[in-house]
Amino acid sequence: MSVRMRHTSGHTGNRRSHHALKEPRLSTCPDCKAPTKRHTVCNACGRYRGRVVIDMAAKLEKKHAKEKAKNKDRTEEATEEPEVVEDKPLDAAELSKK
Ligand SMILES: [Zn+2]
Repeated sequence: MSVRMRHTSGHTGNRRSHHALKEPRLSTCPDCKAPTKRHTVCNACGRYRGRVVIDMAAKLEKKHAKEKAKNKDRTEEATEEPEVVEDKPLDAAELSKK
């Protein structure tokens, strides 16, 4: 890799002075008054300019069903009994065979 022109910490700082992240501009949803990003569908009610774009009730139901299924799997895993390995105390005779 070729070494380009020398740059100072000042140059680096000047370049990085534009790297700061800006807060998103939020406006309130006219339907539910929740803060929303501009020109996007409201995350709280699924409406855009008064029109229902996303059926939030169906979405919520789907989410709950998914969570339920996940929890069911977890409980099944918990109830699954680990295989019991029988531990026999080893005798001196058995040990000597090995
Ligand atoms: Zn809304």
